[in-house]
Amino acid sequence: MYYIDPHIHMVSRTTDDYETLAKMGCVAMSEPAFWAGYDRGSVEGFRDYFEQLTAFEPKRASDYGIQHFTWLCINAKEAENVELSREVIAMIPEFLDRPGVLGIGEIGLNKNTRNESIVFLEHLDLAMKTGEQILIHTPHLEDKFQGTRMILDMLTNDSRIDRSRVLVDHVEEHTVELVLNEGFWAGMTLYPVSKCTPARAVDMIEMYGAERLLVNSAGDWGPSKPTAVPDFILEMRRRGHTEQAIRRVVYDNPIKFFSQSRGFVFDPPEVRS
Ligand SMILES: [Zn+2]
Repeated sequence: MYYIDPHIHMVSRTTDDYETLAKMGCVAMSEPAFWAGYDRGSVEGFRDYFEQLTAFEPKRASDYGIQHFTWLCINAKEAENVELSREVIAMIPEFLDRPGVLGIGEIGLNKNTRNESIVFLEHLDLAMKTGEQILIHTPHLEDKFQGTRMILDMLTNDSRIDRSRVLVDHVEEHTVELVLNEGFWAGMTLYPVSKCTPARAVDMIEMYGAERLLVNSAGDWGPSKPTAVPDFILEMRRRGHTEQAIRRVVYDNPIKFFSQSRGFVFDPPEVRS
C-alpha cells in the first residue's frame, strides 16, 4: 500500500532508510524543522539547516521515488534564547516560497515556559501574516496535558487562525479529544519508547474515527522507528479494517491536509511516468 509519513526527520536518517521506506510503499513525507540535539549558535546555523531541508533532502528522497516536503521554524527547545528566535523568525520568509515548503513547524512547547509561549505566539503571527499552515509539537509525558491545553488556548485566542489548517502532533489518549473537538487536525506519533504504539493508535482510530487524524513515525536521531507507519498498517489489517479505511488514514488524510498549502504539489504514484 502507498503511504505518506507526515512527520519524519530525514536529516538524521541514512540513505538506506530512504531505500527501505520506498520499498515499504512510502511515496511522500514531510519533515518539520526540529532540535538538532544541541543548540545552534546563530541565525546562520538555521539558514544552513533550512537550505538542507529545502534543497538537499528533496533531492536525496527523489532518488528513491519519494516526494519530500518541509516545515520551517526554530524549535521550542531553543526558544529560551528569545533574541536568536526572533532573528530566525525574521529570516524564515526567505525560504517560504521555495518548492515543497508546507508552512511553519514544528513549533510548540517543551517545558511550557513563558519564553516558549512568547516564541510560539511570534511564530503564529508570522504564519498568519504569510498565509502559512502550522504544524505543532506537544510536550512529552508529564508536560503533555498542560502544554496541549496552553497551546490550544493560544490558538483559539487568535481569531485569524483557520483551525482546519493546523496540525497538533504527538496526541495521546488524554489529549486527542481536546484537539479534535476544537476543530484542529491531530497527529499520532508511533514511538518505540514513548508517545504511542501502533496498537494504541488503532485503538484511537476505532474510538474517534479517521476524520482529521494522521499517523507518523517522527523518526529522528533518537530511539525511533522510521518504518512505524507500515507497522500501523499491519495492525489495522490484523484487526480487520478494510484497505480503504487504512488508506484513508495513511494516504488520503495527509493529502487532504497538505493540499491546503501552496507548496504542496503532489505527484501521485499512480500517474508518475
Ligand atoms: Zn518532530
